[in-house]
Amino acid sequence: MTQSPLSFPTPRPGVLDIAAYVPGRDKAPSGKTLYKLSSNETPLGPSPKAVEAYQSISDDLAAYPDGSAHDLREAIAKRHGLAADRIVCGNGSDELLSLITQTYLSPGDEVIISEHGFLVYPIATKAASGTPVEVKDKDLTADIDGFLAAVTERTKIVFLANPNNPTGTYVPFSEVRRLHAGVPPHVLLVLDAAYAEYVRRNDYESGIELAATAPNVVMTRTFSKIYGLAKLRIGWMYGPAHVIDAINRVRGPFNMTGPAIAAGAAAMADTGYIDKAVAHNERWLPKLTEALDGIGLTVTPSVGNFILVHFPKTPGKTADDADDALLAEGLVTRKVGAYKLPDALRISIGSDEANQHLIATLTRFMADGR
Ligand SMILES: *Cc1c(COP(=O)(O)O)cnc(C)c1O
Repeated sequence: MTQSPLSFPTPRPGVLDIAAYVPGRDKAPSGKTLYKLSSNETPLGPSPKAVEAYQSISDDLAAYPDGSAHDLREAIAKRHGLAADRIVCGNGSDELLSLITQTYLSPGDEVIISEHGFLVYPIATKAASGTPVEVKDKDLTADIDGFLAAVTERTKIVFLANPNNPTGTYVPFSEVRRLHAGVPPHVLLVLDAAYAEYVRRNDYESGIELAATAPNVVMTRTFSKIYGLAKLRIGWMYGPAHVIDAINRVRGPFNMTGPAIAAGAAAMADTGYIDKAVAHNERWLPKLTEALDGIGLTVTPSVGNFILVHFPKTPGKTADDADDALLAEGLVTRKVGAYKLPDALRISIGSDEANQHLIATLTRFMADGR
């Protein structure tokens, strides 16, 4: 028998077009203290109450977790004034983004994303045989006119990270409303508000209100950033009942672990804990931006807990050279070539010590190229 080219299992269309996601690095050279500024985690860690709740589950590992994540949804609902039955929790918001594409896309359906948008969107889209349609940014910010112009009859989903990672920029909520008003009712608008807690702008909204009232808007949130629980993988989404129902049919019956449910609920209930992280960010975001500006680097104005820093193309001073110099000092940042920003590094706002070390290292680097 001759072998036909299809005599082996082949992935669905789109899967082999995926460029695998490369996570932020987490290793310093041996002997160096690691300052991990590569994945936008908080330097302040999680609420001690969340840690305690996590540990309390260690006696009960044999039993399946609550598949509905009831306690976690209730804690989120109470804190944000929402209906708990319109919340779905996910193994990180990454899982929810994938569930959304799996639930709503058919082969060839189009998904609108921004030029320098979060890389999980094209991955989740291609994995579900959808077609990502990229819209050019304006000043490294999502261009709502461009989004509206990209809508076709094949458009099924629009992903908007607000604020966006890795640029740190945001669009005012009036623009989000204009986007919503301009897309047809069968298009699902996904507002990814992973950094919402950090934003201090009076024209910003996360999208809770729109997701509460519109039949085609969902908002996703995460415990990985300001809540300091990235390792537990906890995300949540709020949206119309019919979307929540569809997602719950596709989602794995036990997608959340017991420790994640317990720790997440305790973190949400510890109101006030994240205020420290907000204050730390508010202190360092302008300080870091000004310091790097002062040594000749360009920093994109950010409203999140990270900055996008642009380096010269001059040999010895490039983003890759800076990355080498930082790494040698234990400072691990994020290269963003995969985001089409080869001349920049994304740097999370770290502890006082990490930030001071970063400024000192980059000051030396810009002065003498070392
Ligand atoms: C970090 C991040 C997330 C969160 O992902 P999790 O899977 O919840 O850890 C989602 N969206 C954006 C834009 C992010 O930067």
